Amino acid sequence: MEKQFSHLSQSNSADLLIIGGGIMGLCTAYYAAKAGVSVLLLEKDEIGSGATHGNAGLVVPSHIVPLAAPSIIGKGLKWMLDPESPFYIRPRWDLDLLRWLWAFRSHCTEAHVQAASKTLLELNVASARLYRELEDAGVIGDDCYTRKGLLYVYEEEANFQNGIEEAKHLESEGFEMEVLDSKKVRERVPSASEDIAGGVHHVESAHVIPDRLMERLLRTVRHLGVEVHTGTKVTELAIEKGRVTSAKTDHGDFHGERVVLASGALSPSLLKKIGVRIPLQPAKGYSLSVRLDGEMPPLPMILAEAYVAVTPMGDLLRFAGTLELTGVDYTISPRRIDGILKSIHRFLPGLGEWETVETWAGLRPCLPDGLPVIGKPNGIENLTIAAGHAKIGILLGPITGKLTARLAMGEEPEMDLKGVGLGRFG
Ligand SMILES: Cc1cc2nc3c(=O)[nH]c(=O)nc-3n(C[C@H](O)[C@H](O)[C@H](O)COP(=O)(O)OP(=O)(O)OC[C@H]3O[C@@H](n4cnc5c(N)ncnc54)[C@H](O)[C@@H]3O)c2cc1C
Repeated sequence: MEKQFSHLSQSNSADLLIIGGGIMGLCTAYYAAKAGVSVLLLEKDEIGSGATHGNAGLVVPSHIVPLAAPSIIGKGLKWMLDPESPFYIRPRWDLDLLRWLWAFRSHCTEAHVQAASKTLLELNVASARLYRELEDAGVIGDDCYTRKGLLYVYEEEANFQNGIEEAKHLESEGFEMEVLDSKKVRERVPSASEDIAGGVHHVESAHVIPDRLMERLLRTVRHLGVEVHTGTKVTELAIEKGRVTSAKTDHGDFHGERVVLASGALSPSLLKKIGVRIPLQPAKGYSLSVRLDGEMPPLPMILAEAYVAVTPMGDLLRFAGTLELTGVDYTISPRRIDGILKSIHRFLPGLGEWETVETWAGLRPCLPDGLPVIGKPNGIENLTIAAGHAKIGILLGPITGKLTARLAMGEEPEMDLKGVGLGRFG
């Protein structure tokens, strides 16, 4: 990542003040600045150092099933007992977590999946289109964004058959899908196991190299005049007469006529202090970035039963997976990493040797209905929240940025945002 500016010799007020320099913050800055708005962005660490850093980089518009789905309940209970499984809840007495689990469970219904899928379909397709627009505009390029599709690889025949059914449904929603038998999977991915039952290719998917994407976006927003203050942690939002009047930081106060909170999994702590509660839980995931001795897989994959993503990123290959509800906690569990590695060896025994370059843990911001929040809290008229994008934040970055910028500036967003508003939490 290019050297980032410090907080020195820059101004402390703008039309739009954005808190958080992840994908949501930077995309919001981009669309606001492009519309002529003066923007100031505060980031406590470095740009793109939160969940946006070590994720799997998949941009899959056909990911329209929310995390809260009936199928997860049975699996969840089984996984809880397995230390190498892809899902874990650390048992603890935490009222917010218990409320979250209760709400999550109540959303695991077919009716919710249908309603949420509609919302996700609209957001996903619009965001994938914006990625292509960013590519056409030269904001991003093939150094960070590649369209090669995504291959779901299934170990079990029954799961492969479910994948085929899902592919038929996605085709009826307008996505291009391709079903591959075991032999065809191995023709495409020679390192795949002979025991693979088959694969489903989500043809229109793309993938990014997150650090490079953020570098490109950062360069572009600076060019558009956005002031970026890194190493600047917001400790509190000052409220007067139903407005945020300043963001208090460890480097003084900053002001914006309008304020966007895009601080990912850490958003609830600032909101709680001003009486706004959103039921957001951090869900930890891991990734390993490795340099292979042998040949790279030609396209990204999801190892279906293991819930592990495998993404080529330049000269590195990234394995990413697990979802742990452990609160704000970045410790790396060797057992979970082992779980990821075992599934890699099982699905892709031909990958050969590698050197591990980075082992990382990050927090997905998760809401119990599996949808993000793009909305304004009641009673604080100049605050907009863009958070809770869980496992599809990279995919949804551009559309969230565009909608958030418009909403924050008091303009009509181009989509109905009721499904992702704060009103749904009462
Ligand atoms: C293992 C893993 C794999 C994933 N794979 C994918 C994938 O393949 N595709 C996909 O679409 N999504 C994926 N995701 C999800 C995606 O990474 C997130 O949804 C997305 O990065 C969230 O972006 P964000 O901007 O909301 O949060 P973040 O990237 O976390 O950014 C928030 C920023 O706010 C800053 N901040 C927080 N508090 C303050 C404060 N008080 N003051 C100033 N700054 C503050 C943080 O430092 C951080 O930089 C994955 C996530 C994980 C963990």
